[in-house]
Amino acid sequence: MSRYDYDLFVIGAGSGGVRASRVCAGMGQRVAVAEDGPLGGTCVNVGCVPKKLLVYASHFREEIEIARGYGFDTPEPRFDWAKLIDNKTAEIERLNGIYVRLLENAGVDLIRGRAKLVSAHEVEVAGKTYSAENILVAVGGAPRMPEIPGVEHAISSNEVFYLPEQPKRIVVVGGGYIATEFAGVFNGLGSEVTQLYRGPLFLRGFDLDVRMSLTEEMRGRGIDLRFDSCIDRIEPTGTGFRVALSKEHDAEQLQYTDEDETLEVDQVLYAIGRDPLTADLGLETAGVDLGSGGQILVDEYSRTSCPSVWAIGDVTDRLNLTPVAIHEAMCLAQTLYGDGPVAPDHETVPTAVFSQPEIGTVGLTEEEAIAKYGEVDIYRSHFRALKLTMTDLKERTLMKLVVDRASQKVVGAHMLGGGAGEILQGIGIAVKMGATKQQFDATVGIHPTAAEEFVTMREPVA
Ligand code: FAD
Ligand code: NDP
Repeated sequence: MSRYDYDLFVIGAGSGGVRASRVCAGMGQRVAVAEDGPLGGTCVNVGCVPKKLLVYASHFREEIEIARGYGFDTPEPRFDWAKLIDNKTAEIERLNGIYVRLLENAGVDLIRGRAKLVSAHEVEVAGKTYSAENILVAVGGAPRMPEIPGVEHAISSNEVFYLPEQPKRIVVVGGGYIATEFAGVFNGLGSEVTQLYRGPLFLRGFDLDVRMSLTEEMRGRGIDLRFDSCIDRIEPTGTGFRVALSKEHDAEQLQYTDEDETLEVDQVLYAIGRDPLTADLGLETAGVDLGSGGQILVDEYSRTSCPSVWAIGDVTDRLNLTPVAIHEAMCLAQTLYGDGPVAPDHETVPTAVFSQPEIGTVGLTEEEAIAKYGEVDIYRSHFRALKLTMTDLKERTLMKLVVDRASQKVVGAHMLGGGAGEILQGIGIAVKMGATKQQFDATVGIHPTAAEEFVTMREPVA
């Protein structure tokens, strides 16, 4: 008989915590999970799922426009924001219930409340202390907000899903996944959108070609996408907000220069990154080391500096994506209760930005591949999708393969265009397997699709 209440105590029932709890319970362990919010964490409640629902919603106006080219005489559609938000919330609540049942059916004890470590083997929730042989911290992160005058008038991605009214004019600050996705959502739904990014070109880390093409496409859709731009302060006007813009911003010095302009908007949305939720978690009582950004430091098996405490997901700030948190959970279950330690693999992880048009990407960018391999071959196709040829829409799809010249392995694949996320999931398998350009060429295309371009690009660009 164990001297602990549980074999594993999980803090946080989000993407990583739910998966770890269920799988470890399924392996015969006595598992509890503590959660102080709705089940499912960020992804289910204020992340991937509601975001994708809003992205779907924001495509319909354009689809209706496309339909006109195909002979449908459709009147100008009316859109009801409140109905979208209500339907979205009902769906999320349904998912919350499913998550509770998943845990119950797996035999996991769900403990409601905010959890805190009180020693290397003990967790306190709502005044009660539970002991466990192992503790898993999977508490995720929270939106970061800037320190500027008037920031209390701005919202983050947490609030954007519950706005009572659609803003007619919105400014979105940030140049990462969330800002770019929401700029597209509000533009598609008919709001006037300004997106501000502090550097010279947004989506740092993505392929340069893709970033430049998306800039053109978003501006073509009427988004006022500005670079080297920041907000200095936000003031309420009675009907909305006045934001003072700064054109140049020295990120190191936090000095603003060349103040030049103000914007009148109904909403200011900040999406400038997320911070790990490690404050007030009692981590110091167990001797768990943190990094400079507040993230929990772990070894390759997700073990912290305290041998009985483990951490996965966004709180470790490795690759902050739901499938990665789930993968880390699966590996941890094997490490703790399987045949031996399994380290999560963070290489060649496919990802999508649900911008408009969408980005799908896997492997190295052209710039990274040149730095790593020196000589690379680039195959590139930039075309107007067949679906749009009978419409006035000018959007162009970009597809690109990055090939290591010496081995002929495809080390990167990038797409900007409709369905890029769906298409790159399959291409991701080939790239992960180390497929060569010749193997791509030997694959017969599916015609007529956009995806077939990935197997029909024959000549590298000069
Ligand atoms: P979380 O899912 O955040 O779960 C942590 C849980 O711990 C939460 O439920 C929280 O309430 C709970 N908790 C925190 N502290 C305590 C405590 N002390 N006691 C008890 N419980 C606690 N990823 C994708 O792959 N695709 C996407 O399209 C995508 N879209 C996103 C859109 C947005 C707007 C955001 C914000 C994120 C998005 N992500 C997306 C990222 C994804 O949501 C995260 O990577 C993922 O949720 C991380 O899972 P996690 O288990 O680490 O943490
Ligand atoms: P990101 O890290 O993707 O982007 C943050 C952006 O904000 C960057 O452009 C960054 O600029 C900028 N920034 C940082 N600090 C400041 C500041 N003080 N002032 C102005 N701008 C600033 O974070 P997000 O918040 O967009 O999303 C968080 C994470 O959630 C993502 O990284 C991703 O892992 C995950 N996610 C995944 C999605 C998906 O899979 N589709 C969708 C949404 C989120 P710089 O580049 O110069 O540092």
